[in-house]
Amino acid sequence: MKCAKCVDEGLQSQVYPGGTVMTLMSSSPYFDKAGVYHSHDPNERSTDYRCSNGHIWHEVGRSRCPAGDYGGSFHRSYPANRD
Ligand SMILES: [Zn+2]
Ligand SMILES: [Zn+2]
Repeated sequence: MKCAKCVDEGLQSQVYPGGTVMTLMSSSPYFDKAGVYHSHDPNERSTDYRCSNGHIWHEVGRSRCPAGDYGGSFHRSYPANRD
């Protein structure tokens, strides 16, 4: 993962994930008729990130099913610029 603001500005940075908060709904993984493994996890996880250039952001989304038909789209939000 890269910091989108650093990519925009042509900077390089390290990214540090912060705490992750997850909801606690149960999910039932299964193998479909073709024997393909699916894991449709309804839990949203939200994680704070910080980069070494001081940008911070927040991501919310669901884990991607290994078969690729569920989840996997994480919404990234940046706090309003304070300076
Ligand atoms: Zn950055
Ligand atoms: Zn699936």
